[in-house]
Amino acid sequence: MIPVTKPFLPKKEEFKAYIDSIWERQWLTNNGPLLNDFELKLKEYLNVKHLLFVCNGTFALQLAIRALQLKGEIITTPFSYVATTSSIVWEGCQPVYADIDPETFNIDPEKIEAAITPRTSAILATHVYGNPCDIDAIQQIADRHGLKIIYDAAHCFGTRYKGKSVYEYGDISATSFHATKLFHTIEGGAVFTKDPDLLKKMLYLRNFGHNGPDAFAGLGVNGKNCEFHAAMGLCNLTYVDEILERRKLLSEHYYERLVDIKAKFPKLNRDKDYNYAYFPLLFDTETLRQQAMEKLELAKIYCRRYFSPSLATLPYVKRVKMPVCDEIVKRIVCLPLYHSLTFPDLDMICRILIRTQNYAPDVPAENENFGLVVAGKIEKEINHIRTTN
Ligand SMILES: *Cc1c(COP(=O)(O)O)cnc(C)c1O
Repeated sequence: MIPVTKPFLPKKEEFKAYIDSIWERQWLTNNGPLLNDFELKLKEYLNVKHLLFVCNGTFALQLAIRALQLKGEIITTPFSYVATTSSIVWEGCQPVYADIDPETFNIDPEKIEAAITPRTSAILATHVYGNPCDIDAIQQIADRHGLKIIYDAAHCFGTRYKGKSVYEYGDISATSFHATKLFHTIEGGAVFTKDPDLLKKMLYLRNFGHNGPDAFAGLGVNGKNCEFHAAMGLCNLTYVDEILERRKLLSEHYYERLVDIKAKFPKLNRDKDYNYAYFPLLFDTETLRQQAMEKLELAKIYCRRYFSPSLATLPYVKRVKMPVCDEIVKRIVCLPLYHSLTFPDLDMICRILIRTQNYAPDVPAENENFGLVVAGKIEKEINHIRTTN
């Protein structure tokens, strides 16, 4: 079975050493030494000014909305994970959708401008698949209209924009360290800001509003994370360069093998260093997408439709048509991509995709001989990889 993703796991002994130290200290949560160490090392690794490690990425988004005291309407993307919209609604604001760019699948700045009303307080945009939004254009719009910007940067670990971590952009950036993300702490997330006042506010909000053992600065909740998750973060941080490099190699193999397929790849922002967080493929038609997924599933290869459905069709929002997003949702699929995915498995996935499109679509995917005959060019490349790896 090949799933769309598998969580990265460090060496067990490394994690266990941290766990043993937790047992010795008997300090499990509440700003413990591992959590402090993790926040520090993360800040160093990412070269960012401030960050706070929190319980998950969804909470990070809610915390950002709270800290900025947003009210009324927030302009957001219909093409993201549900948490982008649910955070807005949960915090008592109203999501207003702006359609996406057909090439990058990120929110389209021109559509943002058209959606602004006197009730608009902010823009909440997702850097889809870790590919940065049109950050400069969004900043200009926000400046012109006095709006705040939050980025859902859940896919962005390792992505840089104009030489800096992409987490440094917007008033607040929120990310997720969930087990399915390329860098993870099992459950977890973080908020990033360059504004020390906002940082302080979020620090209080994360910990019940405490500003001393017997004192409260204001209303807060429990958004803390703990020593165990910090331990996983500390372990994984030592592997993250290797993880990024491996994903780049795997993605490049996909690109090479899938050049002739009736599908296209999203256009990457030219000012970025990309992290290869996902491998999305936009098929030319919905039928081609369906056929591909069916054939892959016969071979026990499971892709995911990131993202479907359009968030503008959720049962708790005012349903609106988003022509570009609605079309992309039908044709998009993310192929398996994870650290332990092997090149032979990747080649098998590509072979099935090519066969499904170019030749008899009813030939079972498992039929190796058929593949050898019809996809000779690919076979040659595979042999090359086998001998060079
Ligand atoms: C994963 C994800 C989230 C939610 O993060 P959790 O840590 O699972 O709460 C939010 N937005 C996007 C785009 C995501 O991919």
